[in-house]
Amino acid sequence: MPAKAVIAIGAHPDDIEFYMAGTLLLFKKAGFEIHYLNVASGNCGSTEYNAATTRSIRNTEARAAAKILGAHFHSNLTDDLEILYNLELLRALTAVIREVKPVVVLTHSPQDYMEDHMTTSRLAVTAAFIRGVPNYATDYAATNNYDCAIYHALPHSLLDPLRRKVIPEIFIDTSTVHTVKREALEAHKSQQNWLEDSQKMNSYIQSMENFSLTVGVMSKRFEHAEGWRRHLHVGFSEEGFDPLKELGEHYLANENYKFE
Ligand SMILES: [Zn+2]
Repeated sequence: MPAKAVIAIGAHPDDIEFYMAGTLLLFKKAGFEIHYLNVASGNCGSTEYNAATTRSIRNTEARAAAKILGAHFHSNLTDDLEILYNLELLRALTAVIREVKPVVVLTHSPQDYMEDHMTTSRLAVTAAFIRGVPNYATDYAATNNYDCAIYHALPHSLLDPLRRKVIPEIFIDTSTVHTVKREALEAHKSQQNWLEDSQKMNSYIQSMENFSLTVGVMSKRFEHAEGWRRHLHVGFSEEGFDPLKELGEHYLANENYKFE
């Protein structure tokens, strides 16, 4: 029987490494096959190079990062700030989901600091939702309606667009895989200058470190952690289906998470 699959779906090259890669690595250690897909090419992420050159540089970097993670690489589907909730992208992403048949989809927070992240989250949710709908045509035939869980990463800055704090439902201890996560992020070399110029991040590596340590402190138990919220099961699985629990001692339910 083939290994169960997990797919991380990020908006831009380096988002998976920022928010999701530790959990993805732990799934690999637990025997899952892991997949890596950035919806956009990253073509706007430079003030030094034009869009075509930037697209090419970042494709090379993303492939290198996926290799470091030991993940199957999937090509991007569009360009930066062109991640719209449209039919073309939905069909393309649904085809990938049907091909990979993930039991876990890791993606962005539904509320985040920029539209590409939020739209990626919506596209990922719908693509998984229609994995088993035969009359929705894509390059891959519909799967059966096997159980699939979707987890949303924490938003950038841990805040929603109206500055309200987003609290994770689940903490995953990423301390043991943090070095590899960092190496994968470092593969996105072109982002050092760009993020300094455009978003006043002193160092994108340091930003990830701080984020990971902050979530670790929130967990009150782990040094490095990633936080997740599980999507409503309706249309996806049995109510209690929570395969993050297969990460065993790395999994911690947040006692401070409120459903109301
Ligand atoms: Zn991004």
